[in-house]
Amino acid sequence: MRDIDHYIAGRLQPGQSGRWGEVFNPATGGIEARVALADVAEVNAAVAAATAAFAGWSQTAPLRRARILFRFKELLEAHRDALAADITREHGKTLDDARGEVTRGIEVVEFACGVPHLLSGSHSDNIGGGIDNWSLRQPLGVAVGITPFNFPVMVPLWMFPLALAAGNCFVLKPSEKDPSPSLRMAALLREAGLPDGVFNVVQGDRLAVETLLAHPQVQAVSFVGSTPIAETIYATGAAQGKRVQALGGAKNHLVVMPDADLGQAVDALIGAGYGSAGERCMAISVAVAVGGSGDALVAQLAARVRSLKIGDGMQPGIEMGPLVTAAHRARVEGYVATGVAEGAKLVVDGRGYAVPDRPAGFFTGGSLFDHVSPQHTIYREEIFGPVLCVVRVPDFASAVNLINAHPFSNGAACYTADGNTARTFGRSVQVGMVGINVPIPVPMAWHSFGGWKRSLLGDTHAYGEEGLRFYTRYKSIMQRWPDSQGKGAEFTMPVSD
Ligand code: NAD
Repeated sequence: MRDIDHYIAGRLQPGQSGRWGEVFNPATGGIEARVALADVAEVNAAVAAATAAFAGWSQTAPLRRARILFRFKELLEAHRDALAADITREHGKTLDDARGEVTRGIEVVEFACGVPHLLSGSHSDNIGGGIDNWSLRQPLGVAVGITPFNFPVMVPLWMFPLALAAGNCFVLKPSEKDPSPSLRMAALLREAGLPDGVFNVVQGDRLAVETLLAHPQVQAVSFVGSTPIAETIYATGAAQGKRVQALGGAKNHLVVMPDADLGQAVDALIGAGYGSAGERCMAISVAVAVGGSGDALVAQLAARVRSLKIGDGMQPGIEMGPLVTAAHRARVEGYVATGVAEGAKLVVDGRGYAVPDRPAGFFTGGSLFDHVSPQHTIYREEIFGPVLCVVRVPDFASAVNLINAHPFSNGAACYTADGNTARTFGRSVQVGMVGINVPIPVPMAWHSFGGWKRSLLGDTHAYGEEGLRFYTRYKSIMQRWPDSQGKGAEFTMPVSD
């Protein structure tokens, strides 16, 4: 049995707590490894290592920090396939999808490589009496990332590249369901030249999270996961005086207008609803059929859901892999049962789906509901599985009102051929990320990712300029030099190293 350790102060540290979690291969149902679950002493050791490294790292010139990230980016590219295989083995998504995840993460590292420029403040010359005033942004100290199972590479990469680039040290607490990629990324950071202690990984569960939240040296907490946990993390972290961004769950709607290209809308709904078995925070879980578009939409969707190619994500040609654990499959299939019991029309029932050559895998088939109403549990709650709900509304205004009334507000999309409808949608829909004829509008690395309302607690979105702001403190300096003297002659081209 392979053990998955902690990574503290530049070294793998075998778990000492005597507590372990099982890591499954969801496609086979077999146990892949066991992961250490940290105790208080192990968490404290990681924070101590990060604290000790902060003085040196924060004083390292931003250009030098960026050069290490450049090397890290090259190493991630060289190890893209290995990271993708780690993801598929422990998460279950298809290998191509996992490669896409790694690529989207690498783009954040690329953005962070521009940190010398990003950190530059603004300068006001001679505000009066020989005084200048300028601003700068400084690192916070030890920042923590607590990440979910569904993007074990990309979501940590939303966080630590910018945190490190800005001069912070970092402790990552990955999901205990698929922890292996965290250690591969730690090894690549070390190979790239990152000093020991600047980046650490504690494997663990609730105890590790609670210890990190209570630790006086931890200055900032980035969390991505389900909304109930996000709300607890936000309240607890804020009460301890920490800076917190806590990204939560979602219920993303895709509006199909009567003028939309139906084929394109169906393609979008199938990919965004059933890709990664619906285990994406930007998955589309509600299709809003406007006007008369419902019957044709449901007929086309049903045919496609029935013919999804479901199997081991390691195999070529597979469109949808298993769910992450047997417990999660039971939860998802439980929601399907609830939908039926509450009167929604189950058009395609994915429960009990079996893959012949992987009989013990955690598979479920795609499910499709029609005539779902806002009162149904399957509409109100995040299912996080391959279950698409069709809600029928009479007009565009009803579609927007429906979305705006939902407490989850991560993303929303509108399929239409009309520019004015598109423009009105973008301006009036109350979510953090909008797609116009784009089903999953995950912003590029130099924009920022996040939802509104119960999908994000905190003031800043993840990565991009918002992320940089989160990991730095603003400082204003006002200065006067009545008697300053020159340095004397210098004859060589000034360089930074
Ligand atoms: P989760 O909330 O169960 O776990 C997230 C992290 O919190 C993990 O590291 C886990 O170990 C830790 N955790 C779990 N229970 C805890 C507790 N009681 N106290 C303290 N820490 C705890 O989420 P998940 O199942 O791993 O991921 C799926 C969820 O994440 C979905 O709700 C999905 O929408 C959400 N998600 C959101 C975004 C976003 O950007 N908004 C992105 C990805 C995933």
